[in-house]
Amino acid sequence: MKLSNQYHELGKNFYHETFPAPVSEPELLLWNNPLACTLGINLSTEEDSELLGLYFSGNKLIEGSKPIAQAYSGHQFGHFNPQLGDGRAHLLGDITDEQGNTWDVQLKGSGTSHFSRSGDGRCALGPALREFVMSEAMFALGVPTTRCLAVVATGDAVYRERPYPGAVVTRIAASHIRVGTFQFFAVRKDIESLKQLTRFAIERHFPEINIASRSDDCATEGLLSGQNTLDFFAAVLDKQVTLVVSWLRVGFIHGVMNTDNTAISGETIDYGPCAMMNHYHRDTVFSSIDRNARYAFGNQSKIIQWNMARLADCLLPLVDEDEDIALAKITPLLQQFANDLQYRYFEMMVNKLGITELAEGDIELVNDLLAIMQEKQLDYTQHFVTLAENLSQAVVDSLIKNTAGSELSEQEQWLTRWYLRIADDVSAAKVLMNKTNPLVIPRNHHVERILAVSQQSGDLSALHDFLTVLQHPYDNLAQTKAYQDAPSDGDENYHTYCGT
Ligand code: AMP
Ligand code: MG
Repeated sequence: MKLSNQYHELGKNFYHETFPAPVSEPELLLWNNPLACTLGINLSTEEDSELLGLYFSGNKLIEGSKPIAQAYSGHQFGHFNPQLGDGRAHLLGDITDEQGNTWDVQLKGSGTSHFSRSGDGRCALGPALREFVMSEAMFALGVPTTRCLAVVATGDAVYRERPYPGAVVTRIAASHIRVGTFQFFAVRKDIESLKQLTRFAIERHFPEINIASRSDDCATEGLLSGQNTLDFFAAVLDKQVTLVVSWLRVGFIHGVMNTDNTAISGETIDYGPCAMMNHYHRDTVFSSIDRNARYAFGNQSKIIQWNMARLADCLLPLVDEDEDIALAKITPLLQQFANDLQYRYFEMMVNKLGITELAEGDIELVNDLLAIMQEKQLDYTQHFVTLAENLSQAVVDSLIKNTAGSELSEQEQWLTRWYLRIADDVSAAKVLMNKTNPLVIPRNHHVERILAVSQQSGDLSALHDFLTVLQHPYDNLAQTKAYQDAPSDGDENYHTYCGT
């Protein structure tokens, strides 16, 4: 295993060079072998558990590592902070897989940096395990996400309101470039670095954007043109549509969609206060610090638009020297983004109902169902599973035939409308529903119970059992049933915290 250092090559404006701080007793707790295999990392727990503990705690540097803490700014709950940056993370370098895709390898909880402010640079074991479980679940659900390669216990205490065992997580991401990374340079009016960052992001994520050939108005080959920047922005927007629509499909509430937690790659990043929705309600919030419900489930489409508008602010000087011209060019992309989000959201929602393509009347069909679900507090995951389970040609035929003239409840009326819509091919509808609606999600009460058991006993077998189920969210395994139940109290008193 050997790392390269593409981000390091951008130069010192982009980061501070800093080494992970050694830990007392590194012990490898979790190792993501499937992920290691896709990355071509041929280390295994049987032979190398001790070595893996050393590498993924930061006690021993992987060959080629040039550790850095990345600089970024960010809007946190709408308020701009010009100086955030990796306060407890070290980007060790990157690795390129067999398909030619490059991945960042980052340690989190690995000690302080120039950007730590008053933080201790550390991470507690509970949030580290939580990030591993949640990100693996999201990956298996088909949601774009950063992933965890390893969790290593440090043997050191981390002090929060009381001492907790500490851990280091290794995060793998297509990159760690955030909206806040662009903001860092924009607020400093450092246009050269902004251009460098944009070029880097294009080369890493959107190599189909041809910088050299599109630079019609640039004399020097390879200079970024205004059109390149617009193409880049459009490509980023497209990734965010897929991301947020995927969250809405599975009931994920990110909880802290600050611009520093919004990755350009369109991957879910920062699993601190995230949670899953139980019964459908668009205002669902679990994060204890989100007092105004800014990041509620049903607000996430609006917030991603706000975050992308902040990215647009940063890119304006790269689109055109004349700000009015730049604005006139970038604004239609944001309008298109709003339309795309809306369209792809409803397309996804009708897929959940077994309908392949949006047609007239479908938006009302979706909205009416959600209104019923919200009023009757129906579980977002279970309700779609039940609709699919109860679906058969015979049921559809009989309801359609027998309902003429009879008094129907609101739910029966909705069912009849839906049945009429899918009556042409009920079995195809069922196949699509089973692909779109997970049988199981990482429900908050199971996640918390299993993390508590794992930490108290030090025995991770319950966690591994849970992970096996979460890694097959569309398959009914023998153990799946044990994790499908909604919490008896609807998670009424459940609160999440920014996982430090
Ligand atoms: P987050 O809430 O995790 O998105 O982090 C926001 C900012 O706080 C980032 O700059 C983090 O690096 C920093 N931060 C969070 N926790 C710590 C910590 N324990 N020590 C130092 N910096 C931290
Ligand atoms: Mg963050």
